[in-house]
Order: sequence, then structure tokens, then C-alpha cells
Amino acid sequence: MHCPHCGHDDSKVIDSRDSGDGIRRRRECLKCERRFTTYERVQTRSLMVTKRDGRREEFQRDKLWASLTKACAKRPLPTGSIEKLAQDVETVLVETGRAEVPAETIGEMVMQKLKDLDRVAYIRYASVYRDFKDIETFKVAIDSLLEPPEPASEPSTQLSFLEEAALPVPRRRRGRPPKRPLAGSR
Ligand SMILES: [Zn+2]
Repeated sequence: MHCPHCGHDDSKVIDSRDSGDGIRRRRECLKCERRFTTYERVQTRSLMVTKRDGRREEFQRDKLWASLTKACAKRPLPTGSIEKLAQDVETVLVETGRAEVPAETIGEMVMQKLKDLDRVAYIRYASVYRDFKDIETFKVAIDSLLEPPEPASEPSTQLSFLEEAALPVPRRRRGRPPKRPLAGSR
């Protein structure tokens, strides 16, 4: 650390404080005794994102944030929900401890979370991320949202299935819907 006044390379720290994302130090030059401030940003290990075409780029919080803000524009979401979603995604990515993550993994993770948060935002995000080219693709995505939830996610459904199975009840839609839905099933 060189003194900005005389260029001397030794100084003493007279004060240091944590500023949230870094440390601010007040220093005094050992030669000219003038004081200056240094600011040390905490160096977080950078996370690389690998794109589908093989290119790599550093994970950009701002980019994730921008795509979420766009997808959630004018949606009636609770304050802070976009922040939380972005933070959750980043935390998971950092916690994997990996130096590289495929862009696809991030996209899928965001979509999964948006699906729970707001379905309109989900469709908007998916349309950009999955590059929907036509209205049919939108329809498929929307239809998938309208499908009944998988029984596995609801333990109570499993119980009622057992109960109903004991009775001579005509067959009903269970689990994955059949390719051709039964008439009047919706
Ligand atoms: Zn100096």
C-alpha cells in the first residue's frame, strides 16, 4: 500500500471498520505522516456460468436481477419477493461450492421458484429463457401449469387413493394425466 501523498510503501492502520461488504481502513504514512483511507472489498470467489454455446461468463447478480424484475413487472407480489428469490438462487449456487454452473441450471432453478411465486411471471420468464417461438409453445407451458399436482407432493392424496381403491369406484385420473384427457375431466 503506497502513500498517495509521498509514495512511501509503509503505513500504519489507525482505524478500521466494517462497511458491510468491505473494510474501510484509515492509515497513516510512516514517512510523511499524512493520513489516507483505503477500502478493501471482500473478495468473493467468482462463479462462472457456462452457456449452452460453450461460452463462459462470470455470474452477474445484476443480470439475474434484471431478468426477474422484467418477468415480475407489475405483478402483485409482496415487497421484497424478487430480492428474496434472487438471494435464494445465489445462495444455492454459492453453496454448491462449484466454480462453474451451467446457465441452464440457473434458468431452471429460477423457473422453479417463479412457478411457486407467480405463474404469470413464470410464463414470462420461461418464454424468454426457453425462447418460445410460437403460441403453441406458450400453450404447452400454460397447460403444464394447469395440470393437477403430482400425488407424491400431497401425502393426503395417497391415503385417499388407498381408501378409494378398496371401493368399487370407477377409475379416475391419477398421477400423470393420460395423453388424451377424459371428456369432462376439466
Ligand atoms: Zn507519505
